[in-house]
Amino acid sequence: MRRQSFIIALLVCIILPVQAFAMTQINSVRLWRAPDNTRLVFDLTGPIEHNVFTLSAPDRIVIDIKKTKLSTQLSGLTGGKSPITEVRSAHRETDELRIVLDISEQVTPKSFTLTPNQQYGHRLVVDLFDNAPSAVTNQPIQQPITAPVLRPQTPKLSNLPASSKRDIVIAIDAGHGGEDPGAIGPGGLREKDIVLKIAQELQRQINAEKGFRAELVRTGDYFIPLRRRTEIARKKGADLFVSVHADAAPRAAAFGASVFALSDSGATSETARWLADSENRSDLIGGAGNVKLDDKDAMLAGVLLDLSMTASLSSSLDVGQKVLSNMGRITPLHKKRVEQAGFMVLKSPDMPSILVETGFISNPGESKKLANRSHQQALARSIHQGIRGFFQQNPPPGSYVAWLRDSGKLAIGPREHVVRSGESVSLLAQRYQVTVTQLRSSNKLRSDVLKVGQILTIPATTLAGQ
Ligand SMILES: [Zn+2]
Repeated sequence: MRRQSFIIALLVCIILPVQAFAMTQINSVRLWRAPDNTRLVFDLTGPIEHNVFTLSAPDRIVIDIKKTKLSTQLSGLTGGKSPITEVRSAHRETDELRIVLDISEQVTPKSFTLTPNQQYGHRLVVDLFDNAPSAVTNQPIQQPITAPVLRPQTPKLSNLPASSKRDIVIAIDAGHGGEDPGAIGPGGLREKDIVLKIAQELQRQINAEKGFRAELVRTGDYFIPLRRRTEIARKKGADLFVSVHADAAPRAAAFGASVFALSDSGATSETARWLADSENRSDLIGGAGNVKLDDKDAMLAGVLLDLSMTASLSSSLDVGQKVLSNMGRITPLHKKRVEQAGFMVLKSPDMPSILVETGFISNPGESKKLANRSHQQALARSIHQGIRGFFQQNPPPGSYVAWLRDSGKLAIGPREHVVRSGESVSLLAQRYQVTVTQLRSSNKLRSDVLKVGQILTIPATTLAGQ
């Protein structure tokens, strides 16, 4: 008897959950509005089979989900800038759930499911892409790839009026967003919120400076796929891409800011990928308008792309080091030198790109600082100073800053430089356009031997007449 009841108990344990979970439930629905799309996320208790399609006159989106029960309200999905005006749901046949969204304008739906991660369980994601082209996608592309992106030698343009000079465009990419909160700090502090605030502050500071314009890649709380982030920057004609993060470290004690540029291996494999992908190639080469490269020019395309990638990477390391040195004055650094990694957002062959880790949100002390408004402003200021310093030395041709430099109106104040391996006094003097004697005296150097990590003061210069 005991054996029998054991078996019955066992069967109950096996069969009951199967019956209880045969129907997947929708526990909640979230909505994120981006400038050009609306994302709906359904939280599910398990995996599902689904189908999404459109109906017209009137425009509707239909979402059919098999073996699923709705256990939440669908109110709250309408209003605001969302195209959804009305939501209805009904159970069809025995166990199919149908959700109908009435929409105010035509959209293109795309849907996919996500498996559980640390924050969420099973999810169904329905993206509704606006059909009207957004302002973002209509901007002209300013940079042809025929020449290295940032040439140290620029033509004399001082005979042209200053008003005809273009702004240097900085694309600021606040990491994560929407469904992806990024790293979570003590007290539930979310990386996506902190980095958006720093990005907005950086934009404000850059826009206050004549000759520069900052564009936010992400303007609110929504997710943008990584490749799309660089596309948005490219379409805004960005001269520099800056991604802002505040990630977590496995060790809670880890602290300090870091700056990343693309790794050499990442650059090589990405050049190959761009060449292999004809769509990418037409975006980069055809889109630039200046070069028409068909298949028989594949070799030439490869050489141009490689040159462009090399120039971008070298500029990225340079601007990255300037940003890092400036950040080192207001916050501890995790590493004194620019690190290199294969991050997706850094993989543009035509745009110098850096990723700034403003600190570790996982560190209790640092997360408190990151949440502080005046620290956010100081971080933005130091990133801004690094960017300004780089472009004053390497102004893109035709820019207002290039005109300032060429007409002798650009004075550069004293700066700091952190010595990297292979650098000498004469090399640095040449790079900063000061004399060896000036460099020696402003640093009280008794010999020309430099140590890696040593901080040198670079005396003020006027870049007139170069
Ligand atoms: Zn991040």
